[in-house]
Amino acid sequence: MAVKQDLRTPIVSVMGHVDHGKTTLLDRIRGSTVAEGEAGAITQHIGATEVPIDTIVSKCGNPALRDKFMVPGLLFIDTPGHHAFTSLRSRGGALADLAIVIVDINEGFMPQTIESLQILKRFKTPFVVVANKIDRIHGWEPQKNAPFIVSYNKQSERVKTELDRKFYEVVGELYNAGFNSERHDRVSDFQRNIGIIPISAVTGEGIADVLMVLLGLAQRFLEGNLHYDASVPGVGTVLEVKEEKGLGATIDVILYDGNLKKGDMIVVGSLGKPLHTKVRALLKPRPLTEIKSEEKFQQVQSVTAAIGVKISAPNLDSALAGSPVRVVTPETVDAISEEILNELEEVQIDTDAL
Ligand code: GDP
Repeated sequence: MAVKQDLRTPIVSVMGHVDHGKTTLLDRIRGSTVAEGEAGAITQHIGATEVPIDTIVSKCGNPALRDKFMVPGLLFIDTPGHHAFTSLRSRGGALADLAIVIVDINEGFMPQTIESLQILKRFKTPFVVVANKIDRIHGWEPQKNAPFIVSYNKQSERVKTELDRKFYEVVGELYNAGFNSERHDRVSDFQRNIGIIPISAVTGEGIADVLMVLLGLAQRFLEGNLHYDASVPGVGTVLEVKEEKGLGATIDVILYDGNLKKGDMIVVGSLGKPLHTKVRALLKPRPLTEIKSEEKFQQVQSVTAAIGVKISAPNLDSALAGSPVRVVTPETVDAISEEILNELEEVQIDTDAL
């Protein structure tokens, strides 16, 4: 099955307790491929990083897998955390299509992380647990960027036993919280069992496994949710409202359906009534290769889902992070403003109940 043209990139969020390694994992996913100097290995978006399918299969050392997957890659939201997942919505659900829940294998779960699992279950978001910091196990011999099993097989018997012991503590904690789980390479049905991937975000061990399991989850559970139409008016979610020098208030947006063009009229959720404005500029990060440029951003004329983009427009000061952004016409503006108002009220009620 080759990549399907009308399927967008699944959006992935990383959740977990502070200090368990969310930022390091995202850096590893971004950085390891860049450091290897592969052209087009990743694309840096505003607020997100895209890893194309070709990069993922080449990292996993099995290009034959390329034809097995239908999605064009994975789009990781750069803002990690529990809050980011629950407050970032799309119509009818979470903005993220998939999630990674990270836990320090040496410390085990913290109550808030167990709570994150319950939220994922409620949203029916497919996820994988990663048991991080395996390199901290006494006597661990790091194998840089190796798949987990390759690395595991190179460890001494004592180290393997210690890893297994800690690993099954994590399995036990999940069981007590009502989840069946098993090591990712032993899971045959990801609907009945949660896969746990032992990794080190510092040495890169197991990272290839994380990317592959996420692709597998997308393939198995998401096809119906990922259809998009590049010709319809854009729909997205505000990640952040940011003041930029020379531009004033801007919004960083993940667009998950349709298209967005310079000059489009948009409606954005705000503290009061949704605000209306006209897109003055669409901005993407300037490629790292153009270091001479003073400008942080480059302008583009239009974008299509799924993408992270910065919108510069008048009157964005009162825009609300986590709220919807929609492209409108004079005919649709009133109806869509009303819809956004209703969506924001629902999210408020829902979030209060968590
Ligand atoms: P966050 O708060 O969840 O984003 O956690 P960070 O990514 O900032 O990591 C917290 C600390 O743990 C930092 O000092 C990291 O260098 C360290 N750390 C993260 N992952 C690993 C790992 O796999 N192995 C080791 N040894 N340290 C790690």
